[in-house]
This record gives sequence, structure tokens and C-alpha cells, in this order.
Amino acid sequence: MAARTHTSQRSGIWQTAHVASPRPPGVPFVENNCLVSTNPITGVEVGRFQVATPQLVARAVDLARPAAAWWAELGFSGRRQRLARVVSLLTHRTGELAALIHEENGKPVGDATLEVVGAVQHLAWSIRNARRVLRTRRSWAALRMEHTLSIEHQPYGVVGVIGPWNYPVFTPLGSIGSALAAGNAVVFKPSEYTPAVGAYLADLFAQAIPDWPVLTAVHGLGETGAALCRSGVGKIAFTGSTATGRLVLAACADTLTPTLLECGGKDAMIVAGDADVEAAAEACCWGSMTNAGQACVGIERAYVADPVFDAFLAALVRNAAAVRAGFAEEADIGPITMPAQIDIIRSQVTDALSRGARAVAGGPEAIQPPFVLPTVLVDVPDDATIMQEETFGPVLTVHRVRDAEEGLRRSNSTAYGLGGSVFSRSSHGMVIARRMRSGMTAVNGVMSFVGSSPLPFGGIGRSGSGRVHGAAGLREFSWTKVITRRRFRSLIVTESFGRPPGSVRWADRCSRLLHGRGR
Ligand code: NDP
Repeated sequence: MAARTHTSQRSGIWQTAHVASPRPPGVPFVENNCLVSTNPITGVEVGRFQVATPQLVARAVDLARPAAAWWAELGFSGRRQRLARVVSLLTHRTGELAALIHEENGKPVGDATLEVVGAVQHLAWSIRNARRVLRTRRSWAALRMEHTLSIEHQPYGVVGVIGPWNYPVFTPLGSIGSALAAGNAVVFKPSEYTPAVGAYLADLFAQAIPDWPVLTAVHGLGETGAALCRSGVGKIAFTGSTATGRLVLAACADTLTPTLLECGGKDAMIVAGDADVEAAAEACCWGSMTNAGQACVGIERAYVADPVFDAFLAALVRNAAAVRAGFAEEADIGPITMPAQIDIIRSQVTDALSRGARAVAGGPEAIQPPFVLPTVLVDVPDDATIMQEETFGPVLTVHRVRDAEEGLRRSNSTAYGLGGSVFSRSSHGMVIARRMRSGMTAVNGVMSFVGSSPLPFGGIGRSGSGRVHGAAGLREFSWTKVITRRRFRSLIVTESFGRPPGSVRWADRCSRLLHGRGR
């Protein structure tokens, strides 16, 4: 297999060589100042990338500043025209990019293809809707009749985007697409596990928009991300674990750099007594096992009403048994991309079993590095680690509850609040969904809010703050600026020491007229 050496920070040249790394497969390492990424199964080198020291990160941000000024000046239509070229290129290269994701991250090509397709949908929506969402709006106020009031959304300039490896295109492109459509330039730090995918994106943008580096990738380990947080960018959009999110917030606190945090989750599915059990079990299996459970909005807990519990569990186990793990084309799930995650999965499963849980599918023997086969646990006590911490593997806990209300109470008992799902045939499903403590909930579906272009994506609590995608995502990458402009001189002046005495009486009378009727 060919390895790539990335020689430029932005567009670069791919050099190919056949190199098999002697290190453990999938663990990135630094050699001769290069970050080396390897295939998580074969260990074959996928690429090597110059590590960006804090000085190089600062340089990338400095170079992006004039690009940001040019980009902002282009206005909505100029940016839309250029970003449409990115969308087109990305669409034509979906197969090539999906193959690279498969090679570097290990996920099946089909899943990688859907990931790119989803990213394209969101990018296309952002560029189509940026003007409508972010255009200047005029307003008025009774006490300021002589002024025109306008509200503008201005770009931050250069935005730093820090991305994870689990959806190395879909996730960072959510932030990158909104940030660019809103008029910012972006310096992007991909995960150390997927630098080749990050570099591919930067190359593709450079090809579509050759004028200025509106998207630059900087590679490296955590220190590179930390340097980006301290580099003086206008905003940091971080997607990753809650633990790293805390470090990002702390680093950004020094300079009061605003942050968008998309962190981990512990999503639950609630299955009500009136649910379509077969549909719920099928959705739950896919929602918990897709991408080998390495999805921030993956279902990790299921609360199932007593009357349908047995039928649901039987259908779920049947579905789970059919899931094929592997690297071949026909596999449903790939490996655990980050080898260290296997120890976390193993310790959570072992801890649960030692506290009385039972494995009705999989179990410790399902952990066959680099793969973990679908595992379903029942009778897991609430104080088991697996009930509070993100597992990030194809492991699901299933709990018998009296009804959907009890399921809701228990699903709301973690500090996370990202996504979730409710299955119910009645309108009660919507009521439960509304009361689920999460940023997003699917009713009679799972993860249906992902890839729905107008919908904002994000969580609350330990799952982070702020939104990507949709109108909220566009606003996230702009700051609100107001301008008042005097249109004429009025006899009523309130903002002056020399105001005529009648002005205060007029303001008081005006206020009573407008607001004094509710007594
Ligand atoms: P990590 O938190 O380990 O890393 C995320 C990114 O932060 C990586 O690029 C990482 O670089 C970088 N980083 C590491 N240390 C620092 C630091 N001190 N300062 C700044 N940046 C740093 O997450 P993973 O990559 O393992 O991704 C998995 C996590 O992401 C899961 O918890 C998952 O739930 C969450 N996630 C959340 C999503 C959401 O939208 N809410 C979507 C997708 C994933 P490096 O890789 O070099 O260490």
C-alpha cells in the first residue's frame, strides 16, 4: 500500500512510497518532525505530515489573516460561487475520499461514502442560506425614531477548528462549512489519527479556491491543538471528548477566545409500551453499533417498557448477531480506530459484569483487537462505570423499566445531553422527546437529525455548548454588530446633557402610552 508524504501545509504534493510501519497498527507517532499515520489493521503507513510547532501554528494563523480579509470582502455571492466549486469537487471525489477514510480510519467504504455525502449536504445548505440568515436587518425603537437601527453579523476573521477522528470529514466540515460561509478563514487541526483525511480536505479547498488559503491544515498531537487555542484566532470550534473540551475551554479562557464545544455523549433510546418493537430493535442495533459504536450520538443505553422488553431484547440480539465486523468490503463495522479505546471498552464491560450484569450478546470474548463485536448487556446497575462514562464502542446496555416515564427519568440521569431516541406509536412520543435532556431527539427513528441540513447539531451539559449546521451554525461563526445612524435631528433629545426639559416628559409619556395599559 502506498504511503503519502505531505510536504506543504496547505495544498502540498502527495509522494508515494511503500512503507510498512514497525509500530502497533493505528497508533500515530512522530518521526523526524513528522506525524505518521498508519492503517488501524495492517499498520501500513497512510501518510506523514510535518508537525506544526506553536511557531508554525502562529504562522498559519498569520497567513490566514489576509485570506480572511479577502474572503470577507467577497461578500455572500462571491463566497457562494467559490464554495460551490468545493461542493462540486467534493461530490466528484466522494469515492476517492471515502477510500482514504477507509484506509486511515478503518470504517467500511459504504459508511465513509455516506459520511462524505452528508457533509456535502450540509456544506451546500450553508452556502445557499448564508445570505438569508446573516444579512443585515433593520429595526426601529420608539425612543429612537430619528435613527436607523441595523443589526449585522460579522465574521470573526480567522477561526480555529479542532476535529476528531471518528467522522473525520462530516464532523470538522460542519464547523468549517459554516465558518467559511459566514465569511471566516479557517485553520484546521485534524485528529492525529486522521491527518491524511484532514490534508486531503485542505488540498481540495486549495484546488477549488486557489486565490488565498481560506482553509489551512496544521498537523500534530494535542500540543498543536493547544497552540491553536492560544494563537489569537477569533473563535475555536472544538469537536472531541469532554475531557479535552475542558482543556480547550481553559486554554481559551486566558484570552477570552469564544468557543464552540461539541463533546461526548451517553445517548439513550426509550422504547414505550406501544412502540413498534421490531422497528425499535433494528434502529437500536444500528444506532448503537454503527461505526463500531464510535459515534458521539451513538445509542449507549436503552430503556424499554416492561410489556415489550422481552420481544425487544430478542429482536435486538437477533439483529446484533447479524452484524459483521471486519475490514473487507462486506463488513458492517470496522475496527476500533484508536487502539487505547479497546482498554476503556474492556474495563467498562468487565466492571459491569463484576457488578452483576449479564452479556446477552458479545461480552469480554467479543473484544478481539482491533475489533469489538456487538455486545449487549442487561441487569447493569446504575453505579457501574458504563452507565455514566462514554463507552465509544459497539456496546449497549438494555434496561427494563415500568413505562416510558421511568425510562425518561433514568435516561436524563447522566451529565451528558447530546442526542437520543424515543419509540412510541402515540403522540406521547413527542412529549417524551421534548422532555429528554438533550440537544437532539429522534422519534421513531435514530440519529435522523444527523444529515438533516437545516437542523442545528449540538448538546448541553457535558456534551458541550453551541451549535453547528443550519442557521444556528452560521450565526455561531459570526458576531453581532449593531449600528445606529441618525436620519434627522429631532426636537426630542435624550442622549445629551443639554437636552430640552420636555424630552424627559415626552419619553415618560411615550412609555406610558406604549406599555402602561396592562395595569
Ligand atoms: P479527543 O478529545 O481526544 O481529540 C479531539 C481533538 O482535540 C483532536 O484533534 C486532538 O488532537 C485535539 N486535542 C487533544 N488535546 C488537545 C489540547 N490540549 N488542546 C486542544 N486540542 C487538543 O477526541 P477524539 O478525537 O478521540 O474524538 C472522540 C470524541 O469526540 C468522543 O468523545 C466523541 O463523543 C466526540 N465527538 C463529538 C461530536 C459532537 O458533535 N458532539 C462528534 C464526533 C465526536 P490529537 O488527536 O492530536 O490528540
